[in-house]
Amino acid sequence: MLKIAFSPIYKYELPEKHRFPMIKYELIPEQLLYEGTVSEDQFFHPDPLTEEEILWTHDAAYWEKLKTQTLSKKEIRAIGFPMSENLIHRGRHIANGTVQCALYARKYGVAMNVAGGTHHSFTHKGEGFCVFNDIAIASNYLLHHGIAKKILVVDLDVHQGNGTAQIFQHDDRVFTFSMHGEKNYPHRKVPSNLDIGLPDKTEDGPYLKALRETLPRLIDEVQPDQVFYLSGVDVIYSDKLGRLSLSLQGCRERDEFVLKTCKANNLPVAISMGGGYSERLAHIVEAHANTFRVAEEVFF
Ligand SMILES: [Zn+2]
Repeated sequence: MLKIAFSPIYKYELPEKHRFPMIKYELIPEQLLYEGTVSEDQFFHPDPLTEEEILWTHDAAYWEKLKTQTLSKKEIRAIGFPMSENLIHRGRHIANGTVQCALYARKYGVAMNVAGGTHHSFTHKGEGFCVFNDIAIASNYLLHHGIAKKILVVDLDVHQGNGTAQIFQHDDRVFTFSMHGEKNYPHRKVPSNLDIGLPDKTEDGPYLKALRETLPRLIDEVQPDQVFYLSGVDVIYSDKLGRLSLSLQGCRERDEFVLKTCKANNLPVAISMGGGYSERLAHIVEAHANTFRVAEEVFF
């Protein structure tokens, strides 16, 4: 069964005009249940991460500042959400959602978090709506417990995975692959093990070609025993922040290719949802919902 991490705490209260579409965290499970793609019993509420689990990824000074609410104004501005204890608590639940998804993926082939993909979080700082790096935390969890030995991160959010790249810069147990809009934020990119920076307005054809040429080859080379897939839908043409031009169908084909490739190689895949900032809320919900629909179709 497709296990899905979700908790009401995922939806963080924001000031009215904030540009982050927080409501998607409520609408996506609602849509999936309504249309019958998933049922209530597939959802689970992740507990918060322990401090020890946080410290396998983030450094003690950063964690201390989060815990005691003593980040500077500048550090808070870089994260982009109003700071509160609840935001930190939420982050702990979401990151553990990705840990639990990784464990479920080892049982069922795939599992998916209705949030996460917070790849702009570094060992020592957060930025771009990211406090904790869920995929890095889950990777370190698997490595620490000897559950996985070699991990491949497939980051297809439109923004480059700078935080994940920094965290695993000197750790060859995790191979980081990011395909993104070259001119998108972050402007100073931290090199991943493999970066593909695409030109503005890249459409379905060239995008899917690059993915099809790269992913199977990478799996052969890296020989991972676990995959994390960051399925950001900010690659679609109507996205306010993304500079690429995928159609909704192209985005769905992307998900399908990644998941079919993982399945064909017998690789457990944990999916974190990542970004989506379309002008049209319906596009965001539809594109993210497609990832769940595809996971159901490919694996079950
Ligand atoms: Zn993004």
